[in-house]
Amino acid sequence: MKKIISMILCVAMVLGCVSAFTGCGDKDDDTLVMATNAAFPPYEYVDGDNGFAGIDVEIAQAIAEKLGKKLEIADVEFGSIIGGVQSGKYDFGMAGMTVTEDRKKNVDFSDTYATAVQVVIVKADSQYASFEDFYTGFDEEEKPTGVKEGIKIGVQQDTTGDIYSSDEPKNWGFGSDNVIQYKTGADAVQALLTDKVTAVIIDNEPAKSFIASNEGLKILDGEYANEDYAICVQKGNTELLDQINTALKELKEDGTIDKIVAKYIK
Ligand code: GLN
Repeated sequence: MKKIISMILCVAMVLGCVSAFTGCGDKDDDTLVMATNAAFPPYEYVDGDNGFAGIDVEIAQAIAEKLGKKLEIADVEFGSIIGGVQSGKYDFGMAGMTVTEDRKKNVDFSDTYATAVQVVIVKADSQYASFEDFYTGFDEEEKPTGVKEGIKIGVQQDTTGDIYSSDEPKNWGFGSDNVIQYKTGADAVQALLTDKVTAVIIDNEPAKSFIASNEGLKILDGEYANEDYAICVQKGNTELLDQINTALKELKEDGTIDKIVAKYIK
């Protein structure tokens, strides 16, 4: 009996070794897995037959090349990127992701590689000239005191547009009851086109993209929030973080990042 058990153990160990060696069940050392949400043009989107395209995709490819690794892209919901990076399922997350204090509790961020602003999209014939018009009034400290009846804000779930909009009016939010969350920015824009929401709050470059591909929309003057984009890695993975930061620095200095950005943002 003992013999049989030790034989089984032996076979199991050999199989375990083989599977670790082939990378089966384990992450392949030659590959960097990037988690993103490819519905965020011009940073990441699916480009017909060409697969994934966008600023983040190309920067990630350039980083992987510098590290001598293959890049694999996992296209997942925006809200599951951080959890997946945290658990080690993905090596890093890159998705036009804003650095926030809350997110920093769960992942580590690289140096920033882009700045962005949250903007407000409305129908071209909207009666509103600024997001400040969505509020009923302001107190002595010029903080909003309430939200006008019927105002509904469409956002992409779990993004900063969602987080800030869902806050209370006194913190420049619109109250979670007045915010409708969609899986993607494109879905939120579709809701705006069919009058299910008054406005969509989203990052400026995707906003420009959505305006260009849909008639009858405009971006209101004024910036709802200013942000920095960075790459996230598992907390404490200083080895990968340092490699990414060194690569980013080189790619900034030799003009590669500017060149990639110029290709997508005219
Ligand atoms: N910059 C926003 C955020 O980090 C939106 C990112 C996205 O939708 N891909 O929350």
